[in-house]
Amino acid sequence: MEDKRTTWVNKPKAWSVSRRTLMEQCPRAWALKYGFARRNTRTFNRILTEVSDWSSPWRLMLRALRGVIIERLELASKGKDWSESDLAARIRFRIIGSLERQRGTTRLIEKRIGVSSRLKMKVGNQEIGRLVEIASHRFNAVMSCEPLSSILEGKITDWFLADRLEKTSLKQYKLHVAPDIAWRKGRRWHLLRLAMQGGREPGPERVLESMSMVLWALSNSGMPVLAERYEVSSLTWNKGSWRKWSMTANDEQVKAATELIKLDMKAMCDLHYRLGPSCDLSQMPLASNRRNCTNCGHVDTCPGGEDLHRARLEQSALEMAKATKS
Ligand code: SF4
Repeated sequence: MEDKRTTWVNKPKAWSVSRRTLMEQCPRAWALKYGFARRNTRTFNRILTEVSDWSSPWRLMLRALRGVIIERLELASKGKDWSESDLAARIRFRIIGSLERQRGTTRLIEKRIGVSSRLKMKVGNQEIGRLVEIASHRFNAVMSCEPLSSILEGKITDWFLADRLEKTSLKQYKLHVAPDIAWRKGRRWHLLRLAMQGGREPGPERVLESMSMVLWALSNSGMPVLAERYEVSSLTWNKGSWRKWSMTANDEQVKAATELIKLDMKAMCDLHYRLGPSCDLSQMPLASNRRNCTNCGHVDTCPGGEDLHRARLEQSALEMAKATKS
């Protein structure tokens, strides 16, 4: 009975681009981050969340950059002042705050494993200064890109920031598919996501991920009910500049995005059943690329963190042995 309840509570119900990306990069890391419902056992989940959220200093810089961009737009939407001279301090504050929080996580891990953690790192002032400089440069560059420049100059008046945590229902699933910025120009609504780094042009699956924003818009009362009235966009930092990509939505693409989400949810549920009521992580496939492990908070406790290639071989040998027995 208890097993059934645990299985039901932990069953994946939410979809987002970050969930999908992590599942693709490493199913085990996905299971550790999203495979356990938060309300189950609070302390266990808090630690697991903190370890799963661990990020390299570079990623913390990207997060800080995104944070100040949103902060700048929030102030603009409220008509409040923004002081350019505070920019570096705001970014530095965010990066240092995150590093400090992560130090606490590393101490917690060390307490559990009884040895020094591989996540432990000394990020000196010079390195922090370099990260702040990079983020400031990207920030200043994005402010002169469309639509941000027109928003700040007051040329676009009908716009708002959406809450990325907002949920959109799709059957029994909850989707996190809100854009970062939505604005209207004439009869057309534009939905944009910011990406702090990425490829120059989205591939076919990334296009469908962007189309998922239309599901959010269609479920919002007061917004157009026809897919063709929307243009989806992304603004991505790529090789030294921000690149804008846009596409007019249509029913077919939105339908394909819905199918992609359903397939992802099925894949997540399959992984969830593989984990089983006893949460057997040995059944979870490991990362396909060593690079993913270098940015993962579980390196100290995961067999893939030590030697990914060997761990993958051992796992497939175990699976074969299990298949032969049954
Ligand atoms: S250390 Fe590597 S294999 Fe292990 S959970 Fe992290 S990304 Fe996956």
